[in-house]
Amino acid sequence: MQSDHPGPRAIGSAKVMRQLTTLQRAAAMAITGGLRTSPTNALDACAFLLPSPLNINKCCYRALTRMAMLPEDHPLHSTIKHKNTQEVKHHRMAIHHLLDCYQDSIDPNKIEKIPATSHNPILAVKNPFAISIPVDRESLTREAANAEEEVQVFSDGLAMEGKVGAAVVLLRAGKPARILHLHLGLEDKHTVHKAELVGILLGLHLINMERKNGTTFALRSDNQAAIKAFQSNLRSPGHHLAREALRLAHQINYRKRKTKYALTIRWTAGHEGIKGNEAVDREAKKAAEGFTSDLTLLPSYLRKPLLTNPSAVKKAHNDRLKHKWTTIWRNSRRGRKMHQIDSSTPSDKFLKAISLTNITPSTASLISQLRLTHIPLNSYLKRFKRADNARCPACRADEETIVHFLLFCPTYAHKRWALAHQVKKQKKPLTIEFLLRDPNLVIPLGNYINAMQCFTSHGEQSTSLTQQSTPHHIQVTPQPE
Ligand SMILES: [Zn+2]
Repeated sequence: MQSDHPGPRAIGSAKVMRQLTTLQRAAAMAITGGLRTSPTNALDACAFLLPSPLNINKCCYRALTRMAMLPEDHPLHSTIKHKNTQEVKHHRMAIHHLLDCYQDSIDPNKIEKIPATSHNPILAVKNPFAISIPVDRESLTREAANAEEEVQVFSDGLAMEGKVGAAVVLLRAGKPARILHLHLGLEDKHTVHKAELVGILLGLHLINMERKNGTTFALRSDNQAAIKAFQSNLRSPGHHLAREALRLAHQINYRKRKTKYALTIRWTAGHEGIKGNEAVDREAKKAAEGFTSDLTLLPSYLRKPLLTNPSAVKKAHNDRLKHKWTTIWRNSRRGRKMHQIDSSTPSDKFLKAISLTNITPSTASLISQLRLTHIPLNSYLKRFKRADNARCPACRADEETIVHFLLFCPTYAHKRWALAHQVKKQKKPLTIEFLLRDPNLVIPLGNYINAMQCFTSHGEQSTSLTQQSTPHHIQVTPQPE
């Protein structure tokens, strides 16, 4: 799990780590089009790939979280549930090492479990409620206007300032609104999706508590994923709440079976100016801030602290890794230099800028090379002993550096005019930092580089430094999870 392995570097996990780093480096070069001499950490930052030691850390954590989700009847459960593995002296397995590494950040006993067998509610003989999700905005407004149910229940769950809460509001004509709140806890343990399901469960509880029989109910949520959970096989994180909601709905159905009771779960777009929607939004904010209704008013399932959501735990760990990467990168020499150009590194901003469709892959590669400061200009070629001197071939100045090439070379002055004009339009000074930072300048910069036509001759000299088979195919990689 550690990048600075204390033992010999040619064997064991250190060797694997090195091999994976090499592999990822090849991918980063293919994404950015950087040269073979480009430093690995700068390539990772440009391609927005989590450095491989952190990536391995991420995979190990994900594996442990998945194992922590195993139910009691799984053979691995007994191994995982003993969090303290220090006492295991003999036959230590990889699982024990994993538990050792993450004992502070994950408690397998407090993670939600996923059942081994699935139960798809759609396949059930009788659904305890109908589900309505309008396909477009018109049918949504039409449906909202023609709502015929006597009682409208609005549920909502949200995260605010790192805290998660859920609330439900029941509106019946001529009666005061009935409201329930539940503060779930911090965002590193619970997700908004889970809060939405808690909201639906609270709504069903209020419906269950209604004395008057023979009424029609509409339970409204603004989260389609939470409603669609009832159409899945209920084996994802947070779905234990949906299973409990189904159980409760069946119970209500049975109790009111001789009346005209009917329940429809409806999707309502949030913030549509509907009175109940706005009220529940306000109440959910109150719940997120920390307010919970009296425990006796809540369903028994929600009275004890809720189990930790594996998705939230993984997300929190990934955020920690990203933060670690950012700190390491910004404290490195190259990171400090690149920070002057773009304060958002490491991020996918640069990758998005050079992935525009009207930039050719080879131009995008050259812009990446400018950023990586490894580009076949003579000062670079001299440094890597591919040229006898660092002189500028165009004006015979002493050194052909990136600054000279982009800003000062008198031979290119007339071609630089269009670039300078674009910078002037934005009322900014013509500096290296601004040229390489601003996404709007990518196209003028690309045109300037292409107008030089100097990299084709340089390229011939430096083929041994570039990757032979690099297609320089630029793609935006998805953000690491
Ligand atoms: Zn020059």
